[in-house]
Amino acid sequence: MNIKEIDAQYVANTYARFPVQLQCGRGSLVWDEDGREYIDMGSGIAVNAFGIADETWAAAVSAQLGKLQHCSNLYYSEPCALLAEQLCSRTGMKKVFFCNSGAEANECAIKAARKYSHDKYGPGRYKIVTLLNSFHGRTLTTLSATGQSDLHAGFEPLTPGFIYTPANDCEALKALVESEDGIAAFMFELIQGEGGVQPLTREFVDYMAALAAERDILLICDEVQTGNGRTGSLYAWMQYGFTPDIMSTAKGLGGGLPIGACLLGEKVENTLSAGSHGSTFGGNPAVCAGALSILGRVDDALMADVRAKGNYIVSELSGASGVRGVTGMGLMLGIDTEKETAEVVAECMSNGVLVLTAHGKVRLLPALNIPMELVEKAVAVIKAACA
Ligand SMILES: *Cc1c(COP(=O)(O)O)cnc(C)c1O
Repeated sequence: MNIKEIDAQYVANTYARFPVQLQCGRGSLVWDEDGREYIDMGSGIAVNAFGIADETWAAAVSAQLGKLQHCSNLYYSEPCALLAEQLCSRTGMKKVFFCNSGAEANECAIKAARKYSHDKYGPGRYKIVTLLNSFHGRTLTTLSATGQSDLHAGFEPLTPGFIYTPANDCEALKALVESEDGIAAFMFELIQGEGGVQPLTREFVDYMAALAAERDILLICDEVQTGNGRTGSLYAWMQYGFTPDIMSTAKGLGGGLPIGACLLGEKVENTLSAGSHGSTFGGNPAVCAGALSILGRVDDALMADVRAKGNYIVSELSGASGVRGVTGMGLMLGIDTEKETAEVVAECMSNGVLVLTAHGKVRLLPALNIPMELVEKAVAVIKAACA
């Protein structure tokens, strides 16, 4: 059997794979098992922040691997402490809990919100309002937080305590808050990634933040996909007018290795006490050393570059033949195509460009440092595939 056949026989059927076996890469170029070259416009779903086999990141990880690859959370270690310090100093958040994925970062966020409310108001005030069409992860609780009933089907009973409301609908949110008792938090992505790259409006976010402030409802911002420079700022909330009480992130933070982080603001900085939460691998020294090298390079110059490349893609594709519209910010973009997305993806692939999809859209999440000439080449291929 070849690798595709072995995979199909032995790996759980949870993924519908594209018919490509990726072998190796360099930056934003990747080669398959036959040596065919592709421009990578997905970066492993916004994970390979500086592309494939990035030398600075790989050197940081390797150096740490040669010193101490893991030490458990019973001891102090330098990369974990320095990464937490950098995350806090650049966001104004107070403390960081490290884990290994986006779902786990959201689990921590949900636990912290419930505990804060419990400590302050007693039992019964535990509901979390999330948005329809959202995505917060695949564990049972983050699936319950996810506002997509087709993903829930067959896995009931869900974790209780989640209520869904439509995104960008202030009236619906107001009605919900006035009719429901016991709301502890609002949880949301500023751009719904898996939901089709749908940004929240500034008006809706302002409204939600004002309601939250009025009623001591916590704001949990899920920056798993939007975070770490993806949208043209370190975190997407920095382009809106509020500060979250709790922020989760993952995907691009590790530059290609698994990490999740839950950042705790002033209200909740001491909510989780020793023994109340944990993760064996959380804060792993090698992963944190890599993340430090990634974050250190997400600076103003890179962010200006990310915004400029995003603007170029939007201006090239908006109004192009077969394109109904382009949504998103920075290098997190969704293309609404007249053709079926599967057809566009297949056409791009056969012309050497890997793109993603999300909820009926073609989705682009290239490495933050993708060279401009590769952006130009990829855009030409995508344009032709959409037409
Ligand atoms: C990918 C994603 C998650 C889940 O992250 P995992 O690392 O797959 O657990 C959660 N929230 C958002 C917004 C995501 O894009």
